[in-house]
Amino acid sequence: MYDVMRVREDFPILSREIYGKPLVYLDNGATTQKPRQVVEAIVDEYYNVNANVHRGVHFLSQQATDLHEASREVVRRFLNAHSTNEILFTRGTTEGINLLAFSFGESMVKEGDEIVVSAMEHHSNIVPWQMMCERKGAHLRVIPMTDSGELEMEALEALLNERTRIVCCTQVSNVLGTVNPIAEVVKIAHRRGIPVLVDGAQSVPHMKVDVQELDCDFFAFSGHKVYGPTGVGVLYGKEEWLEKLPPYQGGGEMIKNVSFEKTTYNELPYKFEAGTPDYVATHALAKALEYVEQLGMKNIEQYERDLTRYALERMQQIEGMHIYGMAKERDAVISFQVGDIHHLDMGTLLDRLGIAVRTGHHCAEPLMRRLGIEGTVRASFGLYNTKDEVDALVAGIEKVRRMF
Ligand code: PLP
Repeated sequence: MYDVMRVREDFPILSREIYGKPLVYLDNGATTQKPRQVVEAIVDEYYNVNANVHRGVHFLSQQATDLHEASREVVRRFLNAHSTNEILFTRGTTEGINLLAFSFGESMVKEGDEIVVSAMEHHSNIVPWQMMCERKGAHLRVIPMTDSGELEMEALEALLNERTRIVCCTQVSNVLGTVNPIAEVVKIAHRRGIPVLVDGAQSVPHMKVDVQELDCDFFAFSGHKVYGPTGVGVLYGKEEWLEKLPPYQGGGEMIKNVSFEKTTYNELPYKFEAGTPDYVATHALAKALEYVEQLGMKNIEQYERDLTRYALERMQQIEGMHIYGMAKERDAVISFQVGDIHHLDMGTLLDRLGIAVRTGHHCAEPLMRRLGIEGTVRASFGLYNTKDEVDALVAGIEKVRRMF
């Protein structure tokens, strides 16, 4: 049995009041709150361990290095990667994708080549590829989607050709909640020998991800969206790919030998990790992953899917409600508008009731254009949200609707 009230006790911020009302935090797609276990790991490491990693012979440096490298193993297990050489620590999903777009672009892309992204990507999985295309004279191609927010898989097949270098696709849309058939995307791309990057920013917090089962070549996610600290994330890459790709940034740790004439690079994963890593954050990220593993990703997924279903049912009964994205496979994100109430007005008034939602284009302007709108209100759920909170949201929306 998943005991959500027990889980909530681990998150001190959830007992806060906002404008005298209990906080209803429904902005988990943007960032999640942190359990005590994560915050305490950060405090404990700064109080008792702190020393730079990989460089010291002294006790603290070795202890900090051990914690940092043990975290890499936790991430490896969490994603079911083959080896810790495949786990690169980054600042987040965005940095992971920038790393790959640069490194892959430098070595694998030439003029006239094509990069495929989907119509529902976050800017972080569009702009780095666009920048690389500009540098290289390559072109961006887009997998279209249906009105209900599902990828058009036949169109994906038709898009791929001998010029396609990589397919970049989100596993879960941060706007529509659509869960994309990533294993299928990978199969289609691999049939033509094309690698696939998966943006896992919105999937990792909500479902069990197994990179070997998906067979994706690259997978990026952010710590802060999975109950971990800000400023740390992961880029997974198959070892055979990472071996082939050149480094992204130069500096300390990513080198083997440096002379003014020539530098040779370190082995994996360090080749891609220039400079002092946020070793406190990597340790705290491991604590966050252990936290969700302990609750059970299957349990979390089941709980959140039930909650989302309940929310959809209740919200659809509201007069004037329009929900964007009704894919068959969907996750804990609900984007909506009510009548012609501007999303900013809705968000601002819900805030006054203590309800935190996100408003705007959600860093997906091309998707907004596809939907023919400027923005939405987005409620996104996490493992600590409850049906009572959904009821509070519904009552809040009704109240705002009556005001208009
Ligand atoms: N990709 C998706 C689907 C997202 O939802 C987000 C964040 O909202 C990102 C990428 C970027 O994540 P970060 O800002 O942590 O790098």
